[in-house]
Amino acid sequence: MRASTAEVIICGAGIAGIAAAYHLAVRRGVTNVVVVDERPPLSLTSDKSTECYRNWWPGPGDAMVALMNRSIDLLEELARESGNVFRLNRRGYLYATADRDRVAQLVRAARAAADLGAGPVRLHSEASSDYQPAPAEDFEGQPTGADVITEASLIRRQFPYLADEVVAVLHARRCGWFSGQQLGMYLLERAREKGVRLIEGRVDGIDTTGGRVRAVSVATREGGVTIGTPRFVNAAGPFLTPVARLLGVELPVFCERHVKIAFNDSAGAVPRHAPLLIWADPVRLPWSEEERRALHGSATHGHLLDEIPAGVHGRPEGAGESSSVLLLWNYDLTPVPPTFPIAYDPEYPEIVLRGMSRMIPSLAAYFTRLPRCFVDGGYYTKTRENRFLACPLPMEGAYVLGALSGYGLMASNGAADLLADYITERPLSPYAEAFHVDRYKDAVYRTQLTSWSESGQL
Ligand SMILES: Cc1cc2nc3c(=O)[nH]c(=O)nc-3n(C[C@H](O)[C@H](O)[C@H](O)COP(=O)(O)OP(=O)(O)OC[C@H]3O[C@@H](n4cnc5c(N)ncnc54)[C@H](O)[C@@H]3O)c2cc1C
Repeated sequence: MRASTAEVIICGAGIAGIAAAYHLAVRRGVTNVVVVDERPPLSLTSDKSTECYRNWWPGPGDAMVALMNRSIDLLEELARESGNVFRLNRRGYLYATADRDRVAQLVRAARAAADLGAGPVRLHSEASSDYQPAPAEDFEGQPTGADVITEASLIRRQFPYLADEVVAVLHARRCGWFSGQQLGMYLLERAREKGVRLIEGRVDGIDTTGGRVRAVSVATREGGVTIGTPRFVNAAGPFLTPVARLLGVELPVFCERHVKIAFNDSAGAVPRHAPLLIWADPVRLPWSEEERRALHGSATHGHLLDEIPAGVHGRPEGAGESSSVLLLWNYDLTPVPPTFPIAYDPEYPEIVLRGMSRMIPSLAAYFTRLPRCFVDGGYYTKTRENRFLACPLPMEGAYVLGALSGYGLMASNGAADLLADYITERPLSPYAEAFHVDRYKDAVYRTQLTSWSESGQL
């Protein structure tokens, strides 16, 4: 049955699809945009995020920093016009190390980010230095770039909750967090005011007769409908691959499982005003002698005696009386097929708490009696070098907006803004090529990929 027609059909009402609908309908005046999702909006990956943002990204090239600066400009505009309904803050990302050899590395990273456009580096090596702490709420009038503090008493004064062994911290400043659900709902409401329709159903076929998009079939509760359309956007998150196959297109993406815990920090280990806290050193987990002996003989958990890669991180969550804390440490990055509900190691809460205690020793209060932890997570859908896809596909009228990995909330506005420029045939930003799937056709780029070391992933 041919039910209706649409100018653009977007498959996926995660943050990518919703941002695409908003940028088409609200910012570019495209009419008759339809979003199709088999689940409620923002309920698959987009509500599992830590909801942080940063313009702090490595090269090569300045595309990631430029795109994120654009995306954060858009977030700030949206926050201003909405009375900050999604509570955008600017607390920053705080990387800490206890390894003197890593200090020079942090300074180099700050200088490299400054060269890419993330903002200036301020070095604080004196106790009297003019380091400006970040406010807990709001985002206006804050510095960009990064502060690197190497003076011990200044670190203790500003961050008394960090381990005494910390020798340097890097505070990246155009960073913070916000409510992803509130942002998504705000974008969706604005888009609906401009006539965007949301259809509950599963995209299960695309008519590409004659080598171009002509219609999309949707399985709904009431039965199948076919909607005629000249344009289709694949924003299917972890299901980018099967949806692209409906177009006969293969995408260079894969999924990694990422899990986080939330618990009530009744011991008050993580201050409510803290920035996002990231431990920059690999960790050997603290175990008692007895625990060590037990792990030694364990086939499944023996590896927990080994050094685990850097990157355990967390932050306080919620306003007012909330005592909730989020922690993440995803060191097993084996690609997996996306299956739901998501499986995770039952020992994960203890592992991530122990890991984070290296940075915040007061968390050790929970070793003898673990707090009740709420565990959830989803998939980072990624390309090999961790740069998303926003571009036309090799099928006329088809586009992709996805592979947003672990940064889809922060990047959604910049990425959707770019995709909307393709669809409405407007001039493209200089960074467009970096997010086009055709980049892999370039032999020089493919060579660059073989030595691509920094993905910026958290
Ligand atoms: C643990 C974790 C922490 C994270 N932390 C951050 C962070 O701090 N900051 C940040 O910016 N990002 C973070 N992210 C990443 C961010 O959550 C994702 O990049 C983002 O949510 C991806 O959005 P999406 O719209 O592409 O996918 P999704 O939210 O998964 O949406 C895809 C939608 O497509 C629908 N769909 C798929 N196939 C079909 C079909 N055939 N028919 C109809 N509908 C279909 C699905 O039902 C789904 O609703 C994190 C992710 C995880 C898992």
